[in-house]
Amino acid sequence: MKIKQGKNARATRPNIIVYIILGGIVSLYAKVFKKQQLHRSYTSIKPPFILIGNHSSFFDFIYAIRAFYPRRINFVVARKYFHLCGLRQIMKISHSIPKSLFQNDLSAIRAMFDILKQEGIVGIYPEGQIAAHGISIQNSEAIAKFVKKAGVPLVSILTGGGYFCNPPWTKLQRRGAVKSSISIALTAAQVENLGVNEISSVIKQNIFMNNFQWQRANNEKYSGKNLAQGLENLLYICPCCKNEFTISTKGDYVFCENCSASARFCEDGHLLWQNKNYFNHIGQWYLWQIEIENNNIMQSENFSVSEPVILAMLKLSGCGIEPVGQGVFTADKKNYTYKGTLHGENVTLTFSSALRAMPYDTGSNFQIYDKNLLYEFRPANPKFCVKIANICECLFNIAST
Ligand SMILES: [Zn+2]
Repeated sequence: MKIKQGKNARATRPNIIVYIILGGIVSLYAKVFKKQQLHRSYTSIKPPFILIGNHSSFFDFIYAIRAFYPRRINFVVARKYFHLCGLRQIMKISHSIPKSLFQNDLSAIRAMFDILKQEGIVGIYPEGQIAAHGISIQNSEAIAKFVKKAGVPLVSILTGGGYFCNPPWTKLQRRGAVKSSISIALTAAQVENLGVNEISSVIKQNIFMNNFQWQRANNEKYSGKNLAQGLENLLYICPCCKNEFTISTKGDYVFCENCSASARFCEDGHLLWQNKNYFNHIGQWYLWQIEIENNNIMQSENFSVSEPVILAMLKLSGCGIEPVGQGVFTADKKNYTYKGTLHGENVTLTFSSALRAMPYDTGSNFQIYDKNLLYEFRPANPKFCVKIANICECLFNIAST
């Protein structure tokens, strides 16, 4: 295939020699250090095909590379990572496809078709972001439309245990089993015969993962230090006294600073409460917080929450994201608004509240992609990141019903 240059340059597959070497190292890491177990329900499948997976940890990419090694995968990755020092080079070498999250990104779609035309594998995590609470989140129908249009087989990788080894809310790793099941979700003939809605259902079924149910079925344990550390940024409403932002952690314990509620995060990934049992696991706790936010929004005619933030954007030259202003971020039923400074000027930035999801890094920042620009908001209270992401989910669901 003739490769076009410049603006019309086509996305290409990773270099075969580079992939054999680096993919080999990554695969060895997954096998030896992560002890990943593979369960394959088919004997062989040849590219081109689309690979989908559940997204429970940053290591999901590594688990997929090992599962298909030495076949080369072009992963679709959040555009943000193409601008971060260090990661930028990895994205380039791996020929990953940049995507503006939760936006209609035509350049990403074009690149995905390019790879399939070159008989490659396009790897997608349809949830768009890691499910921080351990239970798969809703995904957009856009992936189903892409699968239908591409007309190639759909293969799935469902990984359990990765969430407990590398929870997205902490940098501390744990030791334990990781198991990946790989199967053909749809053949090309089935894609041809099914409608977009049916394909969408198949995608949801094939990559749905409730890590807590998975743990109960597999009875795996995950050992490490300070098992609860980081949960204070994910769990922000106390189930006992209902206070906000009073949850703290110490060692293996998560507790409320305002009342006596306290639970131990055990090696089986579940919670053991000291007195009254509120939730079996943090997934239940997290979903309950969304319910609370939803009720607050529904019951308040003039719903509005605000938080002081630092606004950061991609550097105009070089890599990285730098602060460009500070102000106040507000969410109401119609819009998200940033009022403050931007490169020394006073501005008001308005984003529709019909946003499907607000990606966030627990305890650090939340992001909005708009017209291929990335706005990263760093709240004064780092616990606000999860709260605003939950509010965003509620507002989207309310607007969709
Ligand atoms: Zn409390």
